[in-house]
Amino acid sequence: MAVMKFGGTSIGTVAAMERAIDIVMAERVRAVPVVVLSACGGVTNKLIEIAESAGKSDIEKAMALSGEIRAHHLELVEALVHDPSRREAANMAVMNYVDELEELIKGVGIVGELTARSYDSFCSFGELLSTTVFSQALLDSGCESTWLDMRRVMITDDNFSMARPLDEICSKNARDAIRLLLESGKVVVTQGFIGSTKEGKTTTLGRGGSDYTAALLGAWLQSDEIQIWTDVDGVMTCDPRLVPEAKSIRVMTFTEAAELSYLGAKVLHPDTISPAVQQNIPVYVLSSHYPESKGTVITNNPETLEGTSYSGLVKSIAVKKGQCIVNFRSNRMLGRYGFMAEIFSIFARNGVSVDMVSTSEVSVSLTVSKTASLEAVLDELRNMGDVEIEPDVATISIVGDNLRTSKGVAGRIFSAVKGVNIRMISQGASEINVGLVVEEDDVPEAVQALHHQFFSGSETSSIFEKPASQE
Ligand code: ASP
Ligand code: MG
Repeated sequence: MAVMKFGGTSIGTVAAMERAIDIVMAERVRAVPVVVLSACGGVTNKLIEIAESAGKSDIEKAMALSGEIRAHHLELVEALVHDPSRREAANMAVMNYVDELEELIKGVGIVGELTARSYDSFCSFGELLSTTVFSQALLDSGCESTWLDMRRVMITDDNFSMARPLDEICSKNARDAIRLLLESGKVVVTQGFIGSTKEGKTTTLGRGGSDYTAALLGAWLQSDEIQIWTDVDGVMTCDPRLVPEAKSIRVMTFTEAAELSYLGAKVLHPDTISPAVQQNIPVYVLSSHYPESKGTVITNNPETLEGTSYSGLVKSIAVKKGQCIVNFRSNRMLGRYGFMAEIFSIFARNGVSVDMVSTSEVSVSLTVSKTASLEAVLDELRNMGDVEIEPDVATISIVGDNLRTSKGVAGRIFSAVKGVNIRMISQGASEINVGLVVEEDDVPEAVQALHHQFFSGSETSSIFEKPASQE
């Protein structure tokens, strides 16, 4: 049995929903799946705008936006649900949710204060609405299915906006609520991203959390696989906007995928990986535009997949823009202990997350996101030594399990990017990643040279495919 998750762009329009319905019906022939949906594309952002407007008592703006959400879902119903009584039921359900949303807008708008708890309630409507329309449309296409309120299953702590499931309760709930439905032949359609505290307050798992929901459900139900349907060609060797000849990767390990997502590739929410890894459930990243193409499978057992052994070095190159380097230098570091701890505690105290680090005896360079509020950190650092900032840099990460055991990688990397000014280098911690920091303007040149170095020669194997969108 598969858990199938569709992202916002894979269900956001009539055409996208129709494709998703076809994909679910094709899967149903193999085994009855559980379907997890995100909100329709753009809706969560709109709900956040609504929440913020309501919090500032701008009720008019919030209501205008909720009107757009209502209209969008009613249009989907109009186009996708044909049976008159079913259409009426779907319209009613959409109207009820949007009425509820508008009650919330008024309530929050009058008080003029947005709490963490009401923020999550606002955000939950996107998934509630998308699944409502989708399950009715699925029924209308003749597919036996049922809508499930995920808040009955996903019981979480009360860490609003970043809630985490209470694992034991949830896995029991999942089995109790879902198994029987599947056995009776009904496709279960439910929401990603949302949950509930034990007391029944709506929570969310953090932006992009639907992937996490899918992986958790897969683990709790011990599904055979987890399918993540998106609008990209699986995981690619590089961002195709930077490297037009980037290829789709057929298979990668969990560590490679996790590493890539930490390093800025739009692979999967990093947390998604863990429940699937623990149960060793393969995760497929698939394109809803090209359902026939094989996509990328992420698994710890690539050797079990035929024809997928890979002896090349590099699997993928990830780029994280919007970074800046903090260079710190002090002669007082020489021969002292505890200095590094002091430096890091300054970042920690000020809530600034450090990405890459490189040190020498008397200096440290670190990268942080350029959106971090650095002022307080810099003030404290200046009391200890000289500080210099290099803005507008990007991290380029070269990732592959085989880097662990290979020689000569650094040489190839540096000869490839010899025309580019490298600001920082880091290798080691994870063993499967070499990181370079370059100025943002140099990213295209550096990445194209690296891609050419590692993917154009004899090492390209059957695990790389031309993306389906280019066939
Ligand atoms: N709808 C939520 C978001 O946009 C969750 C998701 O799409 O995974 O963040
Ligand atoms: Mg998403």
